[in-house]
Amino acid sequence: MRIGHGYDVHRFGPGDHVMLAGHRIAADFGVIAHSDGDVLIHALCDALLGAACLGDIGRHFPDTDSQWAGADSRELLKQVYQQVCDKGLRLANADLTLVAERPKVAAHIPAMQASLAAVLDCQPDQINLKATTTEGMGFIGQREGLAAHAVVLLSSE
Ligand code: MG
Repeated sequence: MRIGHGYDVHRFGPGDHVMLAGHRIAADFGVIAHSDGDVLIHALCDALLGAACLGDIGRHFPDTDSQWAGADSRELLKQVYQQVCDKGLRLANADLTLVAERPKVAAHIPAMQASLAAVLDCQPDQINLKATTTEGMGFIGQREGLAAHAVVLLSSE
């Protein structure tokens, strides 16, 4: 068994939606990012890479590479998980925490879980998603951006 942790932050900017776990949530703001700015998937990628000792997402998909401009983060996740599988490892479970004052995601959690399970070819109950706020404190509380934490457990085939 191998454990990994990932963390990601993005700043809000102009726009009309936020991508979270590959699921599009309509909003009157957006996220500033080189890719689609999906903090949950980026944290999950880093947790998977960490557990498999494969470095980090910045090494695999540098934000200086125009190939990843506006990228669908589900594609990044698919490539990361393929590398994990190539090492003979499989996802046992993942636990993700979104830290944000906005957008409100409670109603979207089942769709977000299903979206990730489809990319990782696993059951939705292998991926737990939860959300919290920072009670109005700090950059998240001031609604400047959002963050995500991910913990994953991998098992040998
Ligand atoms: Mg990111």
